[in-house]
Amino acid sequence: MDILGLKDKNIVVMGVANERSIAWGIAKRLMEVGANVIFTYRKERSKGKIEKVLADYSEYKTAVVECDVNSDDSIAKAFEEIGSSFGTIDGIVHSVAFANGDDLKNRFVETSRDGYAFAQDTSAYSLIAVANAAKPYLTEGASIVTMSYLGAERVLDGYNVMGVAKAALEASMRYLAADLGKEGIRVNAISAGAIRTLAAKGVPSFNQILHKIEETSPLKRNTNQEEVADMTIVMLSALSRGVTGETIYVDSGYNIMG
Ligand code: NAD
Repeated sequence: MDILGLKDKNIVVMGVANERSIAWGIAKRLMEVGANVIFTYRKERSKGKIEKVLADYSEYKTAVVECDVNSDDSIAKAFEEIGSSFGTIDGIVHSVAFANGDDLKNRFVETSRDGYAFAQDTSAYSLIAVANAAKPYLTEGASIVTMSYLGAERVLDGYNVMGVAKAALEASMRYLAADLGKEGIRVNAISAGAIRTLAAKGVPSFNQILHKIEETSPLKRNTNQEEVADMTIVMLSALSRGVTGETIYVDSGYNIMG
């Protein structure tokens, strides 16, 4: 019995830069459960990496499409291409974020106007723009999942402007859930624990964060790509059909601690 209901479903996965990406863990699991995965990338370099790792998955139906979330034209072009090749979209994984290095390293009070706008545009507004471009193709029962972090709610050293962007991302997720619910479309966020990826390299205090989670989280360990992938699969699947507008923590329980 296909309790997930993801077999032959078309899922767009945004944000695979390399094999360490959270989105790559999700894409692998999606292929394993029989979904068709449409990868989007920003840089040519990522496209090459995706195509290289996909060589081992040639039996699966996949596609690789350019999409720079800072550009409305690029988003529109990507979803028109996906719509015309696949007809419908049953799910989207939005696993994309970026901020200028200086805005993470400097004191928060020194955040520049441009840096603030850029982090918001890339990491929060992009969810709204993507949902809107995908809307003509989204099926009833479609599910959108975005990746957030505890820095949305708490002040975490070195997370700065990205914490503010994640707060906006989670609020945008809730407004989208309220708006798209009437079309049977669900929108949720996963608040993942700290995982060593390319994006994580930009957070100056990352090693200390990993250490602190190991010491103080209820499970006394860090979470990993597979655990985040599994919960994302649940949130994309029919198992979570009654859930929308939620932030789900996959962080060894770290967020509950004082
Ligand atoms: P990653 O660097 O592998 O992924 C980030 C992706 O964002 C990359 O593929 C990059 O190409 C893409 N991206 C950036 N700007 C873009 C643009 N303009 N257009 C299109 N794509 C763009 O790192 P990751 O850790 O897998 O990050 C994925 C998501 O998970 C991010 O939203 C991140 O904030 C979130 N997250 C990460 C952690 C962690 O500890 N790694 C924890 C919680 C949440």
